[in-house]
Order: sequence, then C-alpha cells, then structure tokens
Amino acid sequence: MGEMLSVKNINVFYGSIHAIRDVSFHVDDGEIVTLIGANGAGKTTTMHAISGLLKLQSGEITYCGEIISKMEAHKIIRLGLSQVPEGRRVFSGLTVQQNLMLGAYTRRDGKEAIQNDFDMVYELLPRLKERRSQPAGTLSGGEQQMLAIGRAMMCKPKMLLLDEPSMGLSPLLVKEIFKIIRDVNRNGVTVLLVEQNAKMALEIANRAYVLETGTIKMEGDAHELANNIEVRKAYLGC
Ligand code: ATP
Repeated sequence: MGEMLSVKNINVFYGSIHAIRDVSFHVDDGEIVTLIGANGAGKTTTMHAISGLLKLQSGEITYCGEIISKMEAHKIIRLGLSQVPEGRRVFSGLTVQQNLMLGAYTRRDGKEAIQNDFDMVYELLPRLKERRSQPAGTLSGGEQQMLAIGRAMMCKPKMLLLDEPSMGLSPLLVKEIFKIIRDVNRNGVTVLLVEQNAKMALEIANRAYVLETGTIKMEGDAHELANNIEVRKAYLGC
C-alpha cells in the first residue's frame, strides 16, 4: 500500500493562537485512519488545513504525490479528496436527490458516470433512496449525516475526510454510520476519520493518531491503542 496523504510538520495559527503545532501523519491507500482527540484538540483545524479551507503557517501536505497545501479547495476536491464537514451542512430546502446532484458539480465526466454513482450511493444508503424527493431539512440527524456522506461520494472521491460523523447521534445511529463508513472503505475509498467518539473510531480504523492541544501525542495500530492504558483512561473512560 502506497502513501496517499502525507501531512508534514504543519503549523496553523488563528491570529496569535497556535492551534496546530508541528503535526505530521500519513494515510496509506486503502486505509481507515482516525485522528482522535478531545474538544478543541485541533481536529477540525487539521481537516480544514487538508481540504484547503485554512492556510498553513508552515509545513507541507501531499496527496497522491502532489503538493496540495497551497492549492485552492475546489481544485483539491477535483483531485478526489472530498470532505464531509462537521455538523453535516446539507441544503435543507433542497431534496435529497438535489443535494446529491450538488456533490457531482465539480465533475467533468458524463451523465452516465454520474448516474452510475447515484445508483452506487442509493445502494450504499437505501434510506436515502426512499427519501429522495423529500427536502433534506425534514430528514433526521442520522439521515442528514448519511446524505452528507452520500454527497461526498458523488464527487467520486479516492479519499474521504470525515469530521465527527457521530456527533449528536444516538448510539444505534452511530453504529449505522460507522457501518456505512466501513462499506465506503470496502468500496475502495480511503478514509481519514476525525472523531471524539474514540471507542467507535478505534474499532473501525486500521491506525490512529491521538491529538492533544494541537500536537500528536500518540500513534499506532488502532487495536493496540484501544488497549493502551493511557488511551483507555483519557478517551475510553475505563
Ligand atoms: P471540537 O471537537 O470541539 O470541534 P477540534 O478538535 O475540532 O474540537 P478545533 O475546532 O480544530 O478543535 O480548534 C482547535 C483550537 O483552535 C481551539 O482551541 C479553538 O478554540 C481554536 N480555534 C478554532 N477555530 C478558531 C477561530 N476561527 N478563531 C480562533 N480560534 C479558533
């Protein structure tokens, strides 16, 4: 497996706040990698730095061999790196189908390829198919999260960045969303998952990084980290 995403010594500031300090990690082709950390650890900031929404003070981010850290966000999406933002942000006045269609707007390939992906997304997320003519604002929280994932899949990504997909969902729905993430990965999409729900994230990930106040404190095999005493105390509550 080759390296798909490489984050090297990045630093991000908000004014005088040094939010990300010399953070380095990588994601290999085909993996699910999770970045876990408490509130304010810098998870969302790291995601936004990768997707081009925030500028780096220093460091470099490479994706599929190309430096993306100075690239505009829409160009990064076109390379197949697609973000599912925190808080879902679906267009509530548009239908499920229209929201999905918006996910395909950066694509240059033909109608047929896009139709195939509609079929693929509806197969992966059958609940969306049932509700395709319904305004997205009338979906439940979990369904909106599914729609946000489906919309990102319509960009035909090689890699998905997921920012706290479990936020605000019941334990049952969290399970369902994590199963979907696993299915997405089995469909050949590499995943970088940012989560506060360390327990679930460590269950589906291959490898993990622990972010604390803007720095990587620990890293390793997800299963090993889930059994690490420090991680258990700080993030798993046991
Ligand atoms: P959460 O799980 O609560 O979303 P997080 O790990 O995603 O947390 P970030 O949102 O990346 O954390 O925030 C990292 C740090 O940067 C925090 O201390 C936060 O207060 C600060 N921060 C984030 N956005 C801004 C901003 N726009 N201006 C100033 N400081 C910010």
